[in-house]
Amino acid sequence: MEFPSLDRLHPEPSAPEQELLCIFGTGDFGRSLGQRLLHSGYRVVYGSRRPHSCGPLPQGAQAMSHEAAAQLASLVFLCIHREHYDFLETLTPQLQGKVLVDVSNNPKKNLYPEANAECLQRLIPGAHVVKAFNTLSAWALQNGPSDANRQVYLCGNGAEAKQAVAEVATKLGFAALDKGSLSAAKELEDFPLQLFPEWRMPLYVAVGLTALIFVYVVIRDVVYAFVEQGKDNSFRIMVSLANKVFPIVSLIMLSLCYLPGVIAGFIQLYRGTKYRRFPDWLDRWMLCRKQLGLIALGFAFLHMVYTLIIPIRYYVRFRLSANTISQIRENRTSVFDTTTAWRTDSYYSIGILGFSLFLLLGITSLPSVSNALSWREFSFIQSKLGYLTVFFCTLHTYLYGWSGFLRPYKWYMPPAYMLSLVLPSVLIVLKLLLLLPCVDRSLTRIRQGWERTDMQDGSEKPLLT
Ligand code: NAP
Repeated sequence: MEFPSLDRLHPEPSAPEQELLCIFGTGDFGRSLGQRLLHSGYRVVYGSRRPHSCGPLPQGAQAMSHEAAAQLASLVFLCIHREHYDFLETLTPQLQGKVLVDVSNNPKKNLYPEANAECLQRLIPGAHVVKAFNTLSAWALQNGPSDANRQVYLCGNGAEAKQAVAEVATKLGFAALDKGSLSAAKELEDFPLQLFPEWRMPLYVAVGLTALIFVYVVIRDVVYAFVEQGKDNSFRIMVSLANKVFPIVSLIMLSLCYLPGVIAGFIQLYRGTKYRRFPDWLDRWMLCRKQLGLIALGFAFLHMVYTLIIPIRYYVRFRLSANTISQIRENRTSVFDTTTAWRTDSYYSIGILGFSLFLLLGITSLPSVSNALSWREFSFIQSKLGYLTVFFCTLHTYLYGWSGFLRPYKWYMPPAYMLSLVLPSVLIVLKLLLLLPCVDRSLTRIRQGWERTDMQDGSEKPLLT
């Protein structure tokens, strides 16, 4: 017996025709874009100089002349380099009223006086030019959106044209972010040319601090020993001194990461409002806090690794065995010192706790993790646990110093770890001041939008409530 097919029982409504989009250029970007469009349910036609010999195209796409392809679609992606735009003028009739998506970038900044997209708009005034997709690479397009690469920035003068491009981007799985009119195109074109702009200042600080502290510890530990005692301690540079420099730089940079927040708090308290802009230097400092923190974490990690290798060092093993042999020879025994045991165990334990919290801060600053946290969870970890990290790391350094704070200095130079304690100690004191109930209450009110009203009439009102 033959059963009627399901199709005949419930005839399928005719599927809506897939939208056809046109791509000019069958190069790397054009092919990746075409493939993603096809996977997302669009039909694709390529406009090419050589439609019959343009190499392998994504399955399902066809290539034809620029004129023919442009006539078929209302939205055209221009996946060609700017220096080849001139030929588009000959296509003015076919491109009239069409949405032209300019994806181009330049090899360096300020190569042309006007943005590529503005140049295109000038060439074909009757088209609606939208700058978009240029911040993605062909590779990212081919692999599809990921958490770290989801945004498609776009700009243009026509709201409808931008809407059409935003819809395509959304259908491809990206989040479209409107950056305004076509005059923003230059900014978008410069964007892929940036080389870690937000990392630059933190890296300068890290390199500067490392160099400074390295020179300081070399003078204090190597040059001093050579000049005053005739001892060659230069072998200490590779591990001992490196393991002094790394934690010091890490602690200073961690403090630098939290210091601007505290300074901002005092500025708001002084001004009695949160609605006035911070000075530029503070704004810039606050914007690179994450990078400062991540570099500090990198140095802390190095400190941890260098500390772990201490027992296998030749110098340490030699000293240990020499000490043991001399004790046997001289029939000496050393007395177990409970205070030292407490101190060293506390020092290690607090260091491990500080480093674990530090790791947590680093992990939660990654976009894929922070996106999964609520704002309250994120600020709890970054702020509350962040200050706890500063506290643990500072305490770890104080425990390391212990009675060393009272020892005489070499050439009037205090040990380097003492220098590293200045900034975090100041930070902790300032933070404790901000946490005093009367100060905290005022700051919380200011941050909720309250303003001190005596600013216009000049009459003094008490700052703290
Ligand atoms: P490409 O591999 O060199 O491809 C460029 C295409 O332009 C060629 O395949 C060619 O296609 C066409 N073309 C070359 N000379 C031409 C001419 N004289 N007249 C007309 N068309 C010509 O470059 P691409 O990497 O795909 O980059 C294309 C555009 O996307 C560029 O503006 C680039 O800045 C931008 N972009 C690229 C990436 C990327 O990761 N590659 C990322 C962001 C933005 P036909 O032979 O089919 O005509």
